Amino acid sequence: MTVLSMNAKGLSGVARQQFASDNYAGACPEAMHWLAQANASGHEPAYGDDRWTQRATDMLRQLFDIECDVYFVFNGTAANSLALASLCQSYHSVICSPVAHIETDECGGPEFFSNGSKLLVCESQSAAAQLGKLTPDAINALVTKRTDIHYPRPKVVSITQATEMGTVYSLDEVRAITAIAQKHDLRVHMDGARFANAVAHLGCSPADITWRAGVDVLCFGGTKNGLPVGEAVVFFDRKMSEDFAWRVKQAGQLASKMRFISAPWVGLLENDVWLHNARHANAMAQLLYTGLQAIAGVSTLHPPEANGVFAHLPPEAVQTLHAMGWKFYQFIAGGGCRFMCAWDTAPESVAALVADVRRVMGGYSATA
Ligand SMILES: *Cc1c(COP(=O)(O)O)cnc(C)c1O
Repeated sequence: MTVLSMNAKGLSGVARQQFASDNYAGACPEAMHWLAQANASGHEPAYGDDRWTQRATDMLRQLFDIECDVYFVFNGTAANSLALASLCQSYHSVICSPVAHIETDECGGPEFFSNGSKLLVCESQSAAAQLGKLTPDAINALVTKRTDIHYPRPKVVSITQATEMGTVYSLDEVRAITAIAQKHDLRVHMDGARFANAVAHLGCSPADITWRAGVDVLCFGGTKNGLPVGEAVVFFDRKMSEDFAWRVKQAGQLASKMRFISAPWVGLLENDVWLHNARHANAMAQLLYTGLQAIAGVSTLHPPEANGVFAHLPPEAVQTLHAMGWKFYQFIAGGGCRFMCAWDTAPESVAALVADVRRVMGGYSATA
């Protein structure tokens, strides 16, 4: 791929790879190839009636081995918010983890688009909760706590796969959650911003960990997996997607030149590029975890199962690393840092970060 030369200073050249978010990465070559193909095809019908959107939809149906309903939207916040809104009335509620993206990072989008459906967060103290997971017990406790008319009626369980803590629900864990959901007549939404990383970790089929395990709707993340932009909302139960197209349009999420969102999906889905990208990101997280674990004074949290590594560093070390130009977020109270790996994270970038952490931590123990 050639980079157009830029006159504007500072816009050309390749920047250092960072670990703040998997969204820092660019788009993968396969996605860009099909983006260019979609542009080269000249005039195409707009608003999703084009052959690229049809092809990407067919490929997703093949991948999930079911005639699902697929909608391409711009980002994950919209995918989650609109999917949840379609499962709820305004007087309903959605059960989720206290660290769920829908609770902490969507600016009230799910509540806004559902006209007020309340998010009910589960307890945060159990071992599972510390790993970012919901459990059947926690769900049961919330559903049975109040059943009177003064409290919003639980209608949906939302789980994030892979979780915000870089862990992955096993097949049995998902099945146990959907079983308790069915018992209480709740629908199941899966925030799959990192669905690819979860499937790469589990080594199961996408169908097994979703609809065959009882999931009703999946928000399948493309952006973090290597697309320039775009997520797919996948309804396995087509009754639930009634009117969804109108909801997407009203929310400003219907791309007029839809092919530029859908065509890159062809690049991800063809030859399992999505899975290769995710496997690579996961492998880089393992490499980083191993590197950080070996440094005295760094305490890593749980072992990574997806593409994120969590570790405690002294605040001064965090400051020094930031001053050295490393970008990463501190999510957990007391200096917990999150390091995300992407589809294109190079082993050399991991090594460079580990070397700098070692250098900074060495400085500490020397002066401590
Ligand atoms: C990144 C992410 C999203 C999507 O976020 P957008 O910025 O709206 O695209 C959704 N859920 C989780 C868990 C995420 O990490």
